[in-house]
Formats: sequence, C-alpha cells, structure tokens
Amino acid sequence: MNLIHGQTQLLELLCIAPHPDDAEIGAGGTLIKAVQAGKTVGILELTRGEMGTQGTPEIRLEETRQAAEIMKLSFRGNLELPDGSIGSEGEHALKLARALRILCPRTLLLPHFQDRHPDHISSYQIGKKAVHLASLRKAALEGDPHRVARVLLYQGNAPLEPGLLVDVSGQLEVWERCVMAHASQFTGAAVSETVTPDILERRKARMMYWGTFAGVRYAEAFVSEVPFLLEGL
Ligand SMILES: [Zn+2]
Repeated sequence: MNLIHGQTQLLELLCIAPHPDDAEIGAGGTLIKAVQAGKTVGILELTRGEMGTQGTPEIRLEETRQAAEIMKLSFRGNLELPDGSIGSEGEHALKLARALRILCPRTLLLPHFQDRHPDHISSYQIGKKAVHLASLRKAALEGDPHRVARVLLYQGNAPLEPGLLVDVSGQLEVWERCVMAHASQFTGAAVSETVTPDILERRKARMMYWGTFAGVRYAEAFVSEVPFLLEGL
C-alpha cells in the first residue's frame, strides 16, 4: 500500500476507488462532509489508472495529491493493482483485506456492482471478499481481525435505486475543486461516454436529481445491501 497523502491511521470512513478519480466523482461530497464533521476520512485507490487514455501515472499521482489536500483527507493511498485486471488474482482481495486490517474503517464505501466498467464491478467483488477476509481470525493475513461496521455502495456509471441520500449542497464548491484537480481527465476531448470535459455539469445534474427526492439542492446516492437497524421509532 503506497501512501499518497496524510498518514496511515485508523479511519471512520474509507472509500475504495478503482481508479484515481472515482471516489471524488461518486462520493466526493459525502467524504468532504464527513471531514468537515471532524471524522477521519480516507480514500484507497486500487490502481494508478495507468490504462487511462489521458494522463500518465505520474500526472495522476500529483492530481490525487492535490485533490486529497483540497478535501483535507486524513489518508490517501494506492494499492497498485493492475488497471484493467482488478481481481484477476486471488492475491488482490488479500491485499485489500490487509489494508482494511491496518486502516480499520468503521464505514466502507465500495463502487456499486452495476457499472459499465469491468474494473468497477471487480472492485465491488474483491471489496466484499476483503471485508469478509479481514474479519476472519483464521485468514492467512497478518494483523488483528477487523470487522467493518457498515458497507455502502456509491454510484458509478449506471442508474441505481438508492437506499439513502446524503445532502451535499454545502459541499458543492469544494467538490467541484477536488473533481477538477483531476484535470488530465476532464480537459480536452471526451474519451468515452463518462470521461468528458462537461463532467461537473453532468454530475451536478445527477446530484440535483437525487436532491429533488429529499427536498435539498444536491444529494449523493448510496445503496446498502442489508437493512439498517434502528433502536426504535
Ligand atoms: Zn473508474
């Protein structure tokens, strides 16, 4: 696990990003809001995005560092799995489980499994496996077992039926800056349906759409695969 920003430390909220810009785009407002609430928040990238059409790993590393500073993250790291082949080896889930035992996140954000990008789907898969492995006393892993209290899925490049919405209206300005820190991806010509120079406009429209269901201006959508337990009504 390569440290990019901050310190390797215990985290209340950790977002797993297949590529260097995915966390900012899918859950950035929520991460910024948690930082502003005083929580220890981190992003763990799985790859350096070396297969991306635009930018180089060196440029993208500098961009992620800038974005981490803008977001005031406690930790940002990269697992350096192969871009385009996440989950192709059993070792990948073990590597991620090892990182979970070190960072001990209470809440973990994974990419939603409905996505056009195969790396995002396999990140969900190894994420689920790693959560399980990290909790097993008898797993072939160093460190003490760690049980993640809550796993939520954030939206990628497909529609979803959200289980919960987070109001990020107050975080929009910082969110825009941290997304645009990834300038190599969003300036110049569009390289795919989702990597386009009008990314802010498109994603803000989506956040505004979710906001309409909660009476707020902008919201980010998440899915929980298990029901939330309330103490009572
Ligand atoms: Zn991605």
